[in-house]
Amino acid sequence: MDPGRGLGCDLAHGLGDCKVTCTEFLTLLDDLIDDSVAAETRAEVEKHMHKCGHCEVIFNTTRKTIEIYRSHEIYDLPTDLRDRLHAAIMARCKKGC
Ligand SMILES: [Zn+2]
Repeated sequence: MDPGRGLGCDLAHGLGDCKVTCTEFLTLLDDLIDDSVAAETRAEVEKHMHKCGHCEVIFNTTRKTIEIYRSHEIYDLPTDLRDRLHAAIMARCKKGC
């Protein structure tokens, strides 16, 4: 991430005081699911999810998908699936969250 920029909302339609964009959310998604983000970052991301239903859905869907894979002892999420999830959420967010 660009160190001079920090977290900031670049959504034209505005999500109040959100500091995390959908793009940043997706970047952080894997770390969130692995629980390897700072508490402060996690709080901002959770704030974003409260305001952005699409990101909430993608988080829950991805987490459940990974849990299913892990429960079957398959640890590698197919990159194809991850790409499709990312593409789907970005396509929706461009229409407006
Ligand atoms: Zn979002």
